[in-house]
Amino acid sequence: MIISPTKIPKTIGVRTRRACSELADASKLIFVDVEPTSDALPNKCVLNVRDVVNNEGGEVVLGWSISLWPDVMIQCIGHAVHKSNTGLRCVTPDKDGCERILFLPDSSLTFDFDDPQARLPTKMIPLCKDPLVARLIENEEREYLIKCRYPRGADTIEVRGNDAIELRRLDEAKPELVRRVFLRTKHHNDTCVCGSGRKFRKCCRPKMLAVGPA
Ligand SMILES: [Zn+2]
Repeated sequence: MIISPTKIPKTIGVRTRRACSELADASKLIFVDVEPTSDALPNKCVLNVRDVVNNEGGEVVLGWSISLWPDVMIQCIGHAVHKSNTGLRCVTPDKDGCERILFLPDSSLTFDFDDPQARLPTKMIPLCKDPLVARLIENEEREYLIKCRYPRGADTIEVRGNDAIELRRLDEAKPELVRRVFLRTKHHNDTCVCGSGRKFRKCCRPKMLAVGPA
C-alpha cells in the first residue's frame, strides 16, 4: 500500500497544510515523537494505544499519519496515538524506524474494537492535476480495497484467487507509473529521488529514460 517515495516531511509546508485541510482541521497538524512500548506491534496502532491507556491512563486519539511525495501527493494513513497530560506520543514501532511522525488529529474517525476486521482508512490526496498521478492513486486505492477483504496479521496478508491476480497486476503496474511520475515532476537539477544526494540528471534520470519515455 505504501508508495515508497513518500516521506515524513521535516517541516509543515503550505501545500501540505492546504491538502490536509480536506481531511480535518489542518491547524492541528503536529509532529509526534515515536516511543514504542516493548510489546507494541507494527500496524496495530489502535490496539497498542489501548494497551497503554489500560496500563497508564490517558486516551486514544485517532487521526492521520501524513507523508509527502513532493509535488505529487500526500499520503494519509489512519493512525492512533496516545494522549496524556504531557501531550501526544506514538507508541507503535515505525517500520522505517522514524523517530517522529506528522500527525493530524481527526475526531470524525472511529474504530470498532469489537470488529476483528476493523481498520482505519487510508487516503491519498494529489498535489497536481497530472492524470498519471490520478492513475497511481486509483491503483493504490484498489490495492487497499482488495487487502481490506482479508484478515490481517501483524504484517502479512494472504490474498487468494482473482484477488491475488488483480493484486499482482496492480503491483506490477506501479513501478512504471512511479517512474513516469518521477520523470514528469522532477526537475533535471533536483536532488535525485534515490537519496544518493547527486543531481537527478546525473543519477537516476538517464536510467529511467532508458526504460521508456515519460
Ligand atoms: Zn539516483
